[in-house]
Amino acid sequence: MATLLDPFGRKLEYLRVSVVDSCNLRCFYCSPGESCKPRSMRGQLGREYIVRAVSAGAKAGIKKVRLTGGEPLVRKDIVDLVRDIAHIPGIEDLSLTTNGTLLKELAVPLAAAGLKRVNISLDSLDTHNFEQITCGGQLQSTLDGIEAAFAAGLTPIKINMVVMKGLNDHEVENFAKMTLHRDIHVRFIEYMPMLGQDDVWQKHYLPSSEIMALCNNVLPMESVPEEDLTGPALNFRFPEGVGLLGFITPVSQHFCANCNRLRLTSDGKIKPCLFSAEEIDLLPA
Ligand code: SAM
Repeated sequence: MATLLDPFGRKLEYLRVSVVDSCNLRCFYCSPGESCKPRSMRGQLGREYIVRAVSAGAKAGIKKVRLTGGEPLVRKDIVDLVRDIAHIPGIEDLSLTTNGTLLKELAVPLAAAGLKRVNISLDSLDTHNFEQITCGGQLQSTLDGIEAAFAAGLTPIKINMVVMKGLNDHEVENFAKMTLHRDIHVRFIEYMPMLGQDDVWQKHYLPSSEIMALCNNVLPMESVPEEDLTGPALNFRFPEGVGLLGFITPVSQHFCANCNRLRLTSDGKIKPCLFSAEEIDLLPA
């Protein structure tokens, strides 16, 4: 089996594929300060191109694939795309990151097509605040999506909350409490700076140490040993809790040394690092 080693000796086994650049929500962190204006969009690769790129990756050593976006579920052929990728020899794990709003209808067909798990982005449990952060999104649609994912067996379900000071940090404790009675993995993600948005970022950035302190206010957490050393989260649980609490620290404690991922943009460019503008266009090849 081939191995993809980068010049730093990191073994690249994980490909994140942006299958579409458009989204049905307009979350604050994706376009901060743009007051809900649509972003400029990249193009969208046809299904057969994505499948060819992932197949080439699998031959080179990629084993894990995550579909993301934009919002992957707005892509009309998403179920067929999942089925095609699930059949690529060498791909052992296929997951998807979504805002959950379209999962109610799609969870069962996606699971049947070979999707293993979902990460669901949810930044507020309050209807009004959810609407504010997402520029008009409906909280209930994401909550319905989470239930649909459970029912379809797309587990373990990870809920990703980007914690932003003054916007949703007052909800951290409520998110932490979700893990007390449900087998759910809530992951608190540090708000990362976007290019040219330093002032907005500085205003709303909250380091994980402070997010952890808020969770410890609920109950003192116990640390959980790392199962997967390449995963970015530091994991904890409450003593009697069923689920897990994870902390992802791209800013305060970046995890570049353990990074094992490549990204494929929706218009066919390999992006070796999220924090770099470097991209390699696959289309000529
Ligand atoms: N639409 C899908 C969703 O909502 O999950 C997938 C794409 S969305 C860009 C994926 C995730 O990227 C977000 O939920 C969030 O966790 C993360 N993200 C985007 N911008 C971020 C930022 N500035 N800081 C931290 N996380 C960010």
